[in-house]
Amino acid sequence: MLAETVLAGLLMASGAAAGCTHGGPSPGVVIQQCSKPGMLALAYDDGPYIYTSDLVDILDAAGAKATFFFTGTLYGCIYDQATAVKKAFKSGHQVASHTWTHPALSGLTEDGIRSEMTQLEDALVNIIGKKPAYVRPPYLDTAGQTLPVLKSMGYKVITVDVDSGDWNKNTPEQSEAVFLAAGAGGNGHIPLMHEPYNSTVHELTPWLINWAKENKLKLVTVAECLGDAGGAYQKGNFKPNGKTTC
Ligand SMILES: [Zn+2]
Repeated sequence: MLAETVLAGLLMASGAAAGCTHGGPSPGVVIQQCSKPGMLALAYDDGPYIYTSDLVDILDAAGAKATFFFTGTLYGCIYDQATAVKKAFKSGHQVASHTWTHPALSGLTEDGIRSEMTQLEDALVNIIGKKPAYVRPPYLDTAGQTLPVLKSMGYKVITVDVDSGDWNKNTPEQSEAVFLAAGAGGNGHIPLMHEPYNSTVHELTPWLINWAKENKLKLVTVAECLGDAGGAYQKGNFKPNGKTTC
C-alpha cells in the first residue's frame, strides 16, 4: 500500500514536471553543456568592458549569437558601458548574470546572494528592460547555499564544459588547442571565456567563428542551445528605478 502510494506520487510528480518545463532546464541545477549536437554556445564572462562593442560587431558580422555573463562592477560600473550592453541585447545576444560584484557566492549569506543577484537585475532593467533568467556563478562556485537560493529565484545555472583558460594566461593558440582536443562532436560546448581580454575578443573569437563554420556548428545563445530560446529572461514587466550610477 505504501509502495503504491509512493509510486503514484512519483508518477504524478514526473507528470507535473514534464508539463511545466517547456523543454528548458530546471532552475538551480548545474548545466555544463548544450542539450543537442551541432551547435556552439560562445559565452563571455566579466564584461561589460571596453571590448564589448567590438565583440558584438565581430559576432554580428558572422551572423553568430552569443551569451554575455555581465557583472555590475568588476571592470568599472555597468552604467558606464550601458551603450554596449544595449547593443549586445538589441543584436539578439543573450544578456545573463555574473552577479553584481563577482564574489564567491558560497561565502555569502542567503541575503547576500540575493542582493548580488537583485542589484544586477535592477541595473539590467534600467538598461535593457529585462531581468536575466541565467547565471554563471563567479569562479564557477556553486557550493553551500548557492544552488538552493538561485533555484528559489528561478535562475538557471551555467558552468562550463570547455575552459579556454584565457583567465590563466593561456594564449589564443593554447586555447585553440583546448577546443581542438574537445572536438566538434557530441552535444554543443558552453566554453568559459572572458571578454576583458583583448586576445579573447580579437583573436580567439574569430578563430572560433571559423572553427564552427568548418565543423558546421551553429553559433547560438546558451538558452537556445538548451532548447530554451524563449526562457532567457524572467517573465513579467519590470519598471526602471531611475538609477544611472553604481
Ligand atoms: Zn568571472
